[in-house]
Amino acid sequence: MPPWPDSLVFRRVLGRELPTIARGEGVWLEDTEGRRYLDGSGGAVVVNIGHGRREVAEAMARQAETAAYVHGTQFTSGPLEEYARRLSAHAPGDCNRLYLVSGGSEANETAVKLARAFHLARGEPTRHKVVRRSIGYHGNTLATLALSGRPNLQAPYLPLLASTPEAAAPFCYRCPLGRTYPDCVVACVDEVETVIEREGPETVAAVIAEPVLGAAAGAAVPPDEYGQRLRAICDRHRVLLIADEVMTGFGRTGRFFAGEWSGVVPDVMTLGKGMSGGYVPVGGVLVREEIVKALEHAGGFVHGFTFSHHAVTAAACLATLDILEREGLVERVRERGERLFGLLEPLRAHPHVGDVRGRGLMAGIELVADKATRRPFPRAERRAEGLAARCFERGLVVYPSTGCANGTDGDLVMLAPPFVVTEDELGQAVSILASALDDFGRSPTRLRPTASRPARS
Ligand code: PLP
Repeated sequence: MPPWPDSLVFRRVLGRELPTIARGEGVWLEDTEGRRYLDGSGGAVVVNIGHGRREVAEAMARQAETAAYVHGTQFTSGPLEEYARRLSAHAPGDCNRLYLVSGGSEANETAVKLARAFHLARGEPTRHKVVRRSIGYHGNTLATLALSGRPNLQAPYLPLLASTPEAAAPFCYRCPLGRTYPDCVVACVDEVETVIEREGPETVAAVIAEPVLGAAAGAAVPPDEYGQRLRAICDRHRVLLIADEVMTGFGRTGRFFAGEWSGVVPDVMTLGKGMSGGYVPVGGVLVREEIVKALEHAGGFVHGFTFSHHAVTAAACLATLDILEREGLVERVRERGERLFGLLEPLRAHPHVGDVRGRGLMAGIELVADKATRRPFPRAERRAEGLAARCFERGLVVYPSTGCANGTDGDLVMLAPPFVVTEDELGQAVSILASALDDFGRSPTRLRPTASRPARS
């Protein structure tokens, strides 16, 4: 008997029962049946400071009690002002003016409108296009989905999606240009320039890019020189660079922002996920001073949401930032990340592990039918979901993703535990993953109902 037989919740997954969460602490989750799970992916690469941090809950409660809601056009709040000030210490260059929203998709929508508004404000009304990359993810609203390189998510909604100019993504394991690094001389970044020139630079407002590719390509790290060359291309054509740090920000890759690895200062940076450690839905946009000034001069930014600039959200983010800083968690990511990739290394020998990639505590494990040719499994076999289900049965949460090979096929799972993970817990996570992989090759896995999985001791 499912725990909610007459549930009226329209769930994220249909046709499958879900356990009910009871509590979380550190990297551990426990359901109402008493089963424990190691949250090996922080949900959807969100949880960084760990579950159950009382300090964050208390900060939110304090603000909720004091003044939970005011409209962003009528008041500002202490936590919001303080948060923007504190966050600026981590922001690249002068890309430090904060626009707080409620999620990563909202952040990217905001960034795109901002780019357009900026060009209008400076007298270039023909600029409106946003160049995107062939593989990537920027959100699930219609505008951000249109900017994503996720054909499997886009397919049902194609008639609703605006067409957007596309350049090859820096996904070396499956190079869209069929090249190999370093012989390729990073031809994919040159393609961004070719696309801008083909479209007409005077029509292009921005380029949007994840510094490390997220779920779409399972933590694929671009070549070192990619970021600076992309920056130079944008500068040459007076196109804004939007860095989508929704997944990579707040320490996930071992630097506060992933762009720090290449020293790139974007014009606009989008945030989400780890910004509040998962304690409250949040997104944000960091913007260069010059852009804000131009908009101010032009009479403002025609944009906003009911819940933008929310005081309780800001209080949660501030408490999360306190913990990240006080506990040195970003530095911890670098150290634990090395350990994680060391533990994952032997998995490369598995006949169906095509690649293990990533940076910090953001790892992608790609599954292939044939290692030599990198041929993916047919989508109908649902290998990523199957592997994730097998891990779940054994008490490990991983984040599956599909479509990285050709938009439809291509299976991977992501490991991205909270930064408070211990070495021992990393070992447990990888050993569960390895054991789930052990019976992986035997037969195509069908997603089993999670209710049948055994309790962990
Ligand atoms: N951008 C990136 C890189 C993401 O990984 C995501 C979510 O996975 C988003 C944007 C969208 O964020 P949200 O789901 O909070 O709207």
